[in-house]
Amino acid sequence: MFTLPPLPYAYDALEPHITKQTLEFHHDKHHNAYVEKVNGLIKGTEFENADLETIIQKSEGGIFNNGAQVWNHTFYFEQFSATPQAEPTGKLMEIIVRDFGSFESFKEKFSTAAATLFGSGWAWLVVDDSGTLGIAQSSNAGNPIREGHKPLLTCDVWEHAYYLDEQNKRPAYIENFWKVLDWKVIEGRF
Ligand code: MN
Repeated sequence: MFTLPPLPYAYDALEPHITKQTLEFHHDKHHNAYVEKVNGLIKGTEFENADLETIIQKSEGGIFNNGAQVWNHTFYFEQFSATPQAEPTGKLMEIIVRDFGSFESFKEKFSTAAATLFGSGWAWLVVDDSGTLGIAQSSNAGNPIREGHKPLLTCDVWEHAYYLDEQNKRPAYIENFWKVLDWKVIEGRF
């Protein structure tokens, strides 16, 4: 059985960029609902004792959708901080510059991927087996682990991630997203 991980900071820690109200709904209602649903769905199936990575790689339908959403949200919430490191350093910064030209160019390309994803889903920075970085878009509960790529950071562009704060203005949410993204966490994943 999976449990809802607590938010790794206070609900008001990311204000004004992401509000307490958004985090209360996003974590306590949405993330929690995915945990409860996947726990109900895996009972009596081959995934009853599987970890989330196995569910992401091998399951279909409701088990995949809810299991991947549990993983995606835990990964998303963990990458923010009230006192974020604003830019990558060291080896990660080096390969961002190598693969995207500059950090600013990476941010622009990632923001465009997040803004232009049609409907609900996620934008990702991923690294492949050869160590090359890439930007990916996935619809709904999609996760690059399914394609064999390692996720480094993600932006949730489901409307529930920003509608209370920004209503229909997804680009305003993406701009605020960068202000609370902690590159210390992303470097740790890398
Ligand atoms: Mn979400």
